[in-house]
Amino acid sequence: MTTVKLTGIAASDGIAIAPVYLLTEPNLSFETKRVEDADAEVARLDAAYGQAIAEVSKIRDIAKESLGAEEAQVFDAHLMVLQDPEFTDQVKMKIKDENVNAEAALHEVSTFFINMFAGMEDNPYMQERAADIKDVSERVLAALLGVKLPSPATIDEEVVVIAHDLTPSDTAQLNKDFVKAFVTNIGGRTSHSAIMARSLEIPAIVGTKSITETVKDGDLLIVDALEGIVLLNPTEDEIKEYQAKADAYAAQKAEWEKLVAAPSVTKDGHHVELAANIGTPKDVKGVLENGAEGVGLYRTEFLYMDSPDFPTEDDQYEAYKTVLESMDGKGVVVRTMDIGGDKELPYLTLPEEMNPFLGYRAIRISLDRKEMFKTQLRALLRASVHGDLRIMFPMIATLQEFRAAKAILDETKAELVAEGIEVSDSIQVGIMIEIPAAAVLAHQFAKEVDFFSIGTNDLIQYTMAADRMNEQVSYLYQPYNPSILTLIKHVIESSHKEGKWTGMCGEMAGDQIAVPLLLGMGLDEFSMSATSVLKTRSLISKLNLTDMQALADKAINECSTAEEVVELVNAAVEAAQNN
Ligand code: PEP
Ligand code: MG
Repeated sequence: MTTVKLTGIAASDGIAIAPVYLLTEPNLSFETKRVEDADAEVARLDAAYGQAIAEVSKIRDIAKESLGAEEAQVFDAHLMVLQDPEFTDQVKMKIKDENVNAEAALHEVSTFFINMFAGMEDNPYMQERAADIKDVSERVLAALLGVKLPSPATIDEEVVVIAHDLTPSDTAQLNKDFVKAFVTNIGGRTSHSAIMARSLEIPAIVGTKSITETVKDGDLLIVDALEGIVLLNPTEDEIKEYQAKADAYAAQKAEWEKLVAAPSVTKDGHHVELAANIGTPKDVKGVLENGAEGVGLYRTEFLYMDSPDFPTEDDQYEAYKTVLESMDGKGVVVRTMDIGGDKELPYLTLPEEMNPFLGYRAIRISLDRKEMFKTQLRALLRASVHGDLRIMFPMIATLQEFRAAKAILDETKAELVAEGIEVSDSIQVGIMIEIPAAAVLAHQFAKEVDFFSIGTNDLIQYTMAADRMNEQVSYLYQPYNPSILTLIKHVIESSHKEGKWTGMCGEMAGDQIAVPLLLGMGLDEFSMSATSVLKTRSLISKLNLTDMQALADKAINECSTAEEVVELVNAAVEAAQNN
């Protein structure tokens, strides 16, 4: 057997050697048949239900154990549907009345209920029941057909998960004790599954285009998520080689770990702040373990995505308070929710859009649905007394949007104060710079905001007109393109002229080629996946600010392509390391 090699985009660092676990859509096609013995067919259905109930109970127990009772609730709902006689009786009746096979009867009855519930547009609760019925019916159908359904929450052996794509909720279900890596067909370094993989510290490669068609369950894989290489059916020598590489990487990580309590300072004494991005309060543990000096981005939309309905003011307050308290006085930038783009909410039914990344998203939704926005702001303002809270608005394109959001914040604050609720009076209010219009006009914004945080994940996709999720155009997704560097420099300089600060919370902030340039441009705060903090601190400690200033100037003024910039940076870093 010869080794097959695939390449993709390295999305979360690490090396893994383990067998494949395919997380793909199973084939549940069947033929409608006449049956002679309807009673035997009903017995077959009962057996399939029994199997489905046993499977879901097991999944529920494992999910409860590894993810918590809240995440496991969905499986309770599935069990309720499975044990609902009204539904099963109708399937049985169909088998008996029409002498059809159980697969066909089940399909017909479930389709009827799914369509009925899904059509209740003003009743999100019933719409969710449609999703439950669909899930459950698929499981019973799979049992009838003898097809195995994949279930990520029940993985209890070391594997590499292979999928076309992973939704953020699939990713959240992966238990990192067993899932040694994941590899997908689609996605980019800044797709949200990649971002979650980094916060879960699971090595990941995305955008391989064809991994699901190339491997089958149980195949042995080497995943080199440092280089973006997957080896299928490796030889003994290759396994040895990569085992050695994995050991070397572990040793390198151990070196970085020594910097956990060190300041983030250049060789010539210039301090910057290295912060980390989080998606849930659980991520704070990783932030502290990796020695980050603050939270530079708390993506609150995951609070909304992990909940069966809008999180209440109190639910949100608890989450924000937990993060602020755990960070113990260190700065915490909380971004108001950024739903839309690739982040959907099942209970917020939004119309299909041709271009969701250019559509109804983030602050555009918040300003349109003021009550929902105010609930979040009330929770944030109440939590502000528990730490150093900074509030940030996402996807700001115009000054009017910032002013409108700020006015709602001020109004909410006045209401709380009138109710006698204590609110901190030192909350900084800033915006994400992720739309080119805001970057170009940063000198105007800087007069009104307290800080900027540059969201390069979106800023690059909008500036280059290259979808951050689409591996076909990933060659255009160029963080080091001089056009991007020019925008970033303008933003940083504009903030400094007004005595304000600029951070960066896009993935570029932890990119080892970009860091020397950003340092030279005067970036004040770098916020990244927690796992990138220590290697970035190590890199910064080897560089001189003055040299990096000259490097950034040269990159912007003399380079015309991203490749030229990379060459320049590599030469400068090598020179610094030899010094
Ligand atoms: C960004 O756009 O850079 C960013 C940090 O936001 P998100 O990745 O959540 O869109
Ligand atoms: Mg963004």
